[in-house]
Amino acid sequence: MKTEILTADASDIDRAAARLNRGELVAFPTETVYGLGGDARDDMAVARIFEAKARPQFNPLIVHVDSVQTAQRYVQWCDTADRLASAFWPGPLTLVLPLRPDAGLSALVTADLPTLAIRVPAHPVARALLTAFDGPVAAPSANPSGKISPTTAAHVIAGLSGRIAAVVDGGACNVGLESTIVGLSETPTLLRPGGLPLEALEAALGAPLALRGSDDPLSAPGQMTSHYAPGAPVRLNATDLRPGEKLLGFGKVEAAMNLSPSGDLTEAAANLFHHLHAMDTLNAKGIAVSPIPDHGLGRAINDRLRRAAAPRP
Ligand code: AMP
Ligand code: MG
Repeated sequence: MKTEILTADASDIDRAAARLNRGELVAFPTETVYGLGGDARDDMAVARIFEAKARPQFNPLIVHVDSVQTAQRYVQWCDTADRLASAFWPGPLTLVLPLRPDAGLSALVTADLPTLAIRVPAHPVARALLTAFDGPVAAPSANPSGKISPTTAAHVIAGLSGRIAAVVDGGACNVGLESTIVGLSETPTLLRPGGLPLEALEAALGAPLALRGSDDPLSAPGQMTSHYAPGAPVRLNATDLRPGEKLLGFGKVEAAMNLSPSGDLTEAAANLFHHLHAMDTLNAKGIAVSPIPDHGLGRAINDRLRRAAAPRP
């Protein structure tokens, strides 16, 4: 894949939006860092984000939208959200709110959580792209996993050239820090410090924010184990079926459900959460899972499957 470098001109923005519409990945500037954007409603597009970044885990992504009105289509809004959004959107503030059941977003975006991280970015190029695309864009930072977040298009190209469809060059990002994340699904809590200072948030709220404790389930991805566990026990690397088990297959096997009959890891990632939920409704005594190659997206898939198979607390 040759990564196309686009300008911030209206015709190039339309081109970038058309690529997003086709499920392709487009990096774009926000006021924090360059984001790696994909259609948040499209499982394959979101799977490609994890693939391009070579992320070893499916952690939840921030969804970018053009306005408060659009955000309200995806999350259950509340007075505190309204207060913070009025004060700081568009801007480097991400709100975590309960996901609306009718949101229609990919389960990979939220890592199957019942909450969604969402924000309205302020950067004019990000806003132009979101307006032209007219949909929710999932966008983690546009760098390979474990590398420094990019603040120029050249950084994006250095890290992801050949792995994404396009990058919109909108110059250098001016905040250069990630967005501040505030959780509002329970007590307002600072989940990640970032471009918007805590003091500004507390002034707008008129009250101190709770800080995330080290025992919070999301502070360490390894502690999210139980959330991913289906009702029936899960057995990995299964090459046979034991009595009462049903098979979640991968590749050319006879199975109750198959993550990807053709053995495509991107497709398997896109199907993972749906298929785990669906397997859960089959009332099997156990769920056996075919071996998944442990490279590329297979690493993140196996990470999730190991959590699903882990002994229950
Ligand atoms: P990044 O997109 O790489 O800047 O990272 C997104 C950050 O948002 C990660 O630290 C996630 O853990 C956090 N995040 C995304 N969704 C949620 C959520 N539903 N609840 C809590 N934190 C979230
Ligand atoms: Mg990042």
